[in-house]
Amino acid sequence: MKYVSTRGANKDGVSAAYAIKTGLASDGGLFMPEVIPQIDAEYINDLIPLSYPERAAKILSLFLTDYTYEELLEDASGAYAADKFIPSPAPITSLSGGKYMLELWHGPTSAFKDMALQIMPRLFSRALKKTGEQREALILVATSGDTGKAALEGYRDVEGTKIKVFYPIDGVSRVQKMQMQTQEGKNVSVVGIKGNFDDAQTGVKKIFSDEKFAKALSDGGVFLSSANSINWGRLVPQIVYYISAYCDLLRDGAIAEGEKIDVCVPTGNFGNIFAAYIAKLMGAPIDKLVCASNKNNILTDFLRSGVYDRNRAFYTTMSPSMDILISSNLERLLYVLLGHEKCAEYMRKLAAEGKYALPEEDFAKVKESFVGYFTDEEECKATVKATYENENRLIDTHTAIAVSAAERYMSDSEAKSKMLVVSTASPYKFAGDVLLSLSGAKPEDDLLALRALEDRTGVEIPAPLADAISKTPIYTDVIEKNDMASSVSEFALG
Ligand SMILES: *Cc1c(COP(=O)(O)O)cnc(C)c1O
Repeated sequence: MKYVSTRGANKDGVSAAYAIKTGLASDGGLFMPEVIPQIDAEYINDLIPLSYPERAAKILSLFLTDYTYEELLEDASGAYAADKFIPSPAPITSLSGGKYMLELWHGPTSAFKDMALQIMPRLFSRALKKTGEQREALILVATSGDTGKAALEGYRDVEGTKIKVFYPIDGVSRVQKMQMQTQEGKNVSVVGIKGNFDDAQTGVKKIFSDEKFAKALSDGGVFLSSANSINWGRLVPQIVYYISAYCDLLRDGAIAEGEKIDVCVPTGNFGNIFAAYIAKLMGAPIDKLVCASNKNNILTDFLRSGVYDRNRAFYTTMSPSMDILISSNLERLLYVLLGHEKCAEYMRKLAAEGKYALPEEDFAKVKESFVGYFTDEEECKATVKATYENENRLIDTHTAIAVSAAERYMSDSEAKSKMLVVSTASPYKFAGDVLLSLSGAKPEDDLLALRALEDRTGVEIPAPLADAISKTPIYTDVIEKNDMASSVSEFALG
């Protein structure tokens, strides 16, 4: 399996290891497999008796053909070890009205990004060896909260790597900040940025595209790579849980063989929902993909009008991991549906004018699989409260955005399919706003909210979070967004 750029570079294709090592293609595009491997009902049936790591190794081996099955099984077994994901990596629970919840936050940082970031560093480490790389890799991450901690935890003390994380100081929860500031490991750095997530992401992208800067680092024996969901190594492990979830629903008799399900994903950078789309393209019986957004509803507008326009206000919401105006992985969707020439043209327009508009024929292809809904802050709170009171389920604010979207989609479309709603964070990662939703008030200090929420609901605080809030912060630096590059070179070479 070869990988090509969404914008047309690397026409002859590069290996999966090379794509994972470099992150971005040479023309600024994202790597995509040349063809999408196909699975059928028999393949799905064969997966049913397997463990999650075995399912992962099998599915990953379809995409990462330069890794052996044994290597992938070793990496998946280490990443999804039973003592790291309690009770299991991707359990499904049922909600009312034909909805099921896929809980992806039982890993070491209580957020769904662990699903990718526990295995990605292992794939990356092998990629360095497979490509004969001599230099040290500096993983550069811009995060709106959960990615940062999950990446730090995944890469800490991984041989041949260093990791530096930038987060917007006003765009993450207090608990997320504590988790990152207390990170352990010899090869880590965590820095706050005065700005929002897009400022952090734009700053990181700028550093990535600065050739002089890369040369200087390289002379010092260091090269840059990314752990954001633009890296194929982040995306490919996410395909696994959609296929695995289908297996579990089938095994448990919730659906019949071949029965199509809908999937609803709380969306920010469009990585998670795009992984679901690849599972669909592979042949998993998935019908509609409901893209759930918060008040930053640029994707809802796009999926309803075909116009992507980032010239709009940016809001800081109770679901900060979805406070995003440029959803990088949407580029992959444009590439799959329209090809690299049109994709490159739309990306040029986005960079130059901050917007692009799909003509009806192109937009029709998007609408075939995707629908968009957004949920405002009041409705988000109401959904957390209603889900707790009516279903006895404590959900976080991101998951609430998805539950709300799923409910409206199901009533608008009178859809008969079962709906898989993706739950992306422990309610305790956003305890203040969850408590506010339940009771109408929250303590000034977000950390106190954790105990208060536990007292009120009797739902236990996950061990990794209880641990993080009891430690003393190590990394408290905050810098201007213009100082990101110098901060990187200091850490890389200093
Ligand atoms: C990252 C994140 C999302 C958004 O996922 P994307 O792949 O960026 O669309 C949603 N919820 C939570 C809790 C997250 O951390």
